[in-house]
Amino acid sequence: SYQPCREFNVVVLGAGGVGKSCLTAQFVHNEWIESYDPTIEDSYRTQRAVDGRQVMLEILDTAGTEQFGGCHSAFKFPFASLTPSKVAMRDLYMKTGQGFLLVFSIASRTSFEELETLRDDIIRIKDDEDIPIVIVGNKADLEDQRAVDRAKAFSLSQRWSAPYYEASARTRTNVDEAFIDLCRQMLRRDDN
Ligand code: GDP
Ligand code: MG
Repeated sequence: SYQPCREFNVVVLGAGGVGKSCLTAQFVHNEWIESYDPTIEDSYRTQRAVDGRQVMLEILDTAGTEQFGGCHSAFKFPFASLTPSKVAMRDLYMKTGQGFLLVFSIASRTSFEELETLRDDIIRIKDDEDIPIVIVGNKADLEDQRAVDRAKAFSLSQRWSAPYYEASARTRTNVDEAFIDLCRQMLRRDDN
């Protein structure tokens, strides 16, 4: 039987520098670019087959979550008056997001600790406890700089009932797997 193409809004969230732009570019364009402007926030459309069903994704690669408690806020947002609109914008994309990729770097403990606040915000803004989330520990190629135990990330993953992937945008490891898993969750949710 004919199945229409489903459309989903995906939001990629996480601390500055964890590799959100690199992961998004690898997934959407199959390319590795060493460096992106950290302040660029953009969205990308890409169509995929997931378990035989067509899915159109609108992926928002966010920037600047570190303004909420990070140490670079004064540098990136020098005018206090800009902050409220940034907050409103974040509320808006969290509201329209149907699936969230929560990214940290396995080489940064603070980036891991930030995930808790991000999920709290998503749940509060969407007023929904069961929102599709996938946790990504990026930069898995930097094993010698690991600062977040695999077991710690797994226990968070169990607590949230959200899958955990150790990924590397650099080596293109588990990039498709993480995004496609998120698609499966969004499809399952949409079916109910
Ligand atoms: P964003 O601020 O979260 O969008 O982070 P970027 O995607 O701009 O990446 C920040 C920095 O981390 C850049 O220097 C990237 O080259 C680097 N990077 C991103 N992903 C990986 C990865 O998987 N492995 C390694 N070794 N470096 C990465
Ligand atoms: Mg970026």
